[in-house]
Amino acid sequence: MALIVHKYGGTSMGSTERIRSVAQRVAKWVRAGHRMVVVPSAMSGETNRLLALAKELQPARMDAAALRELDAIAATGEQVSVGLLALALQAQGVPAVSHAGWQVPIETDSAFTKARITRIDDARVRADLEAGRVVIITGFQGIDPDGRVTTLGRGGSDTSAVAVAAALKADECLIYTDVDGVYTTDPRIVPEARRLATISFEEMLEMASLGSKVLQIRSVEFAGKYRVPLRVLSSFTPWDIPIDEEARSGTLITFEEDEKMEQAVVSGIAFNRDEAKITVMGVPDKPGVAFQILGPVADANIDVDVIIQNVSHDGRTDFSFTVHRNDYVRTLELLKSKVAPATGATQVVGDTRICKVSIVGIGMRSHVGVASRMFRTLSEEGINIQMITTSEIKTSVVIDEKYMELAVRSLHKAFELDAPVAA
Ligand code: ADP
Ligand code: ASP
Ligand code: MG
Repeated sequence: MALIVHKYGGTSMGSTERIRSVAQRVAKWVRAGHRMVVVPSAMSGETNRLLALAKELQPARMDAAALRELDAIAATGEQVSVGLLALALQAQGVPAVSHAGWQVPIETDSAFTKARITRIDDARVRADLEAGRVVIITGFQGIDPDGRVTTLGRGGSDTSAVAVAAALKADECLIYTDVDGVYTTDPRIVPEARRLATISFEEMLEMASLGSKVLQIRSVEFAGKYRVPLRVLSSFTPWDIPIDEEARSGTLITFEEDEKMEQAVVSGIAFNRDEAKITVMGVPDKPGVAFQILGPVADANIDVDVIIQNVSHDGRTDFSFTVHRNDYVRTLELLKSKVAPATGATQVVGDTRICKVSIVGIGMRSHVGVASRMFRTLSEEGINIQMITTSEIKTSVVIDEKYMELAVRSLHKAFELDAPVAA
């Protein structure tokens, strides 16, 4: 008898019919003798609807007090889901109880809209499991030290599920979604994308951090830190398929690298349309200038991603970096009002129509020429590269947003990701 955590995403919980099917699937696992904890998301579209309502009443930039209310509003979507799923299970004759994040409690810090889980008290959940109940816990939310409801950032139910699995030392955490696993790239953009039977934890971490929204990055971090066995699979298979078959389907995140020695150089392609580029022009090329520009940005709690500094002309240089699009206006204002006067920069310009495309693979460590194949492929398509950043297992480029799909498709082909894998 194992302790299993299931997570169901928004589409999987999208209607009462879908919720009934989730309940039937969970009931099947209960009948097979497992103790079950289920973490659902809000019904599809619900979080967007709630956030849009809030925006109607507060269209301006939200301050701390407003963000606190935003979380109180957004967290309700998941509360509806857990109650409905508990009812659906009870209707199947399966004892079930729902808990909101604060009832568990799932404790977080106070960073409203992007809170981090700090501790999970497992006593209540264990007592319910001992009493033979399926325990259903809201995804996406927790409670801060002041007793306020927080949310964990978009896609945060993945993180709730993995964190709960880690706290309970569950035997496995299964992430049920609307695709049947992790693919070489988003199958909605490249229909030829292939499902990966396994992906290493490091590659999954890169894919998630570079924009593949199939798993929220923090969920992958948790899985790595606590070694939570993690699998991504579909909630759209018939609920009554044999449990052994279901337990082996999808994509397994692996922690042992040598399991994958035979793998391709590049395993996947990720893309991200959420960034914007800012260039500070004509700054004096002298020690300390990067700090003079990025120090105030960091102090304003704005995360910076790709950074480049150009060669200098006549003692002056241009300095470019990317930030999240949500922080774009704020960063631009900060640079124009504070940084430009302090550094003597001639101009600050920005561009929101950019995207970042990345190739990822632990095989890149032992192969040279991978990045140059990437650059050649893009040049053959006439796509200009604006910025480049590399690490051991990834290379990312910033390009014009309008070429994103073309870039992803041609790279997918160039690295033979659509080719069937040799047995
Ligand atoms: P859920 O609501 O179940 O959490 P998400 O929409 O958050 O689902 O994540 C699943 C989606 O992630 C898929 O529908 C797919 O379009 C997208 N996706 C992006 N990159 C990948 C990838 N490499 N493999 C699989 N799906 C991906
Ligand atoms: N409902 C939340 C969102 O839409 C959390 C999640 O789905 O993971 O972002
Ligand atoms: Mg998701």
